[in-house]
Amino acid sequence: MTSTTPVRRPSRIGWPAEAGPAKTDIAGAPAPIGWIGVDGVGESPPAAGPSSEDERVTHEPTATLDASRTRIKSVLDDAVGSPRDGELDTPIMREAAQAVRVLNPTRDSTFPRPGHRRVITVANQKGGVGKTTSTVNLAVALALHGLRVLVIDLDPQGNASTGLGVEHSSGTPSIYEVLVDGASLAETAVAVEQAPNLWCVPATIDLAGAEIELVSVVAREHRLRKAIEAYDHEVDYILVDCPPSLGLLTVNALVAGDEVLIPIQCEYYALEGLGQLLSNIDLIQSHLNGGLRVSTILLTMYDGRTKLADQVAQEVRNHFGDLVLDVVIPRSVRVSEAPGYGQSVMTYDPGSRGALTYFEAAREIAVRGTQLATPGRRESE
Ligand code: ADP
Ligand code: MG
Repeated sequence: MTSTTPVRRPSRIGWPAEAGPAKTDIAGAPAPIGWIGVDGVGESPPAAGPSSEDERVTHEPTATLDASRTRIKSVLDDAVGSPRDGELDTPIMREAAQAVRVLNPTRDSTFPRPGHRRVITVANQKGGVGKTTSTVNLAVALALHGLRVLVIDLDPQGNASTGLGVEHSSGTPSIYEVLVDGASLAETAVAVEQAPNLWCVPATIDLAGAEIELVSVVAREHRLRKAIEAYDHEVDYILVDCPPSLGLLTVNALVAGDEVLIPIQCEYYALEGLGQLLSNIDLIQSHLNGGLRVSTILLTMYDGRTKLADQVAQEVRNHFGDLVLDVVIPRSVRVSEAPGYGQSVMTYDPGSRGALTYFEAAREIAVRGTQLATPGRRESE
């Protein structure tokens, strides 16, 4: 199921100006490139660089952008709910009400439990798009609302471990021991203090060598999947935070997952390289994990002051349709401060917009999860 059709990208934003040759994938086969379901139809990519693109964006008619803004606002308003009899109608009261909603201290609000354990791989080979931030905050949000969650940190930087406040200095039992030495997830997972029923398998810098060490290991692409299959703790969600590359660690995560969640930053070059990620997902689907599918796109770091952010959001919705969550994560200082305190924004500032939107994203994911069929049989089985 490979194709060498020349790249024809229908998008205008953020695509590379030139259609490169079909890339060779991890399995040595030429990778098909392009959007799912788009058969080379559409406009050619823009020849111009960022400056003329910016100009076009600035003068773009705003009808669709306004529609996009209205949609985002209504989702957020729904999430907060209207104040009762005006009693919460001050900014501070409103923020306090949001905080209670997010933290759920009485534990009486619960998200629906999925019909089967969902293994979600959070991937995008671009760095800094919000993979780790999304993994951490979604995991905490799900756990605060009654679901049992395991986070697997698969990035040698260990940022997810930091955000969850989990020790990850070199030598700490970690995902490295699981992948390279065959340790179990159960013996490396540690409880996270921020929420009940939340565990994390940390990543240490030792993992940086794993890509090379795994090369000679039998069934090297299946190491994580085997470990997850052997993990018999009752969890509802396993979230895998990938490194910013398409190397063997990410391949392990894609072979292990049922679903891929792709965070996309609402920025100019956000879509660049996405074709390559989708091609790799296609290849893994064909050769290593027939049950894999892209289930969720999450728009991150949205800056409401720029038309560009709206336009990228709209472009992504045009291509991915219902896969894109309704809620969009705004760019927020509170979100970026939280990891410095070993926390998610959910616990660091639960009344903030960042916390509220991640709460809403988690709820959407949980609700959609109840409509999902059981994952298909994998081809390698
Ligand atoms: P990735 O894991 O894809 O490399 P991160 O989640 O680490 O990306 O995010 C990259 C940087 O952007 C981090 O410093 C993070 O704190 C910051 N960041 C992520 N999401 C937001 C947001 N919504 N608002 C502001 N800063 C953010
Ligand atoms: Mg990261």
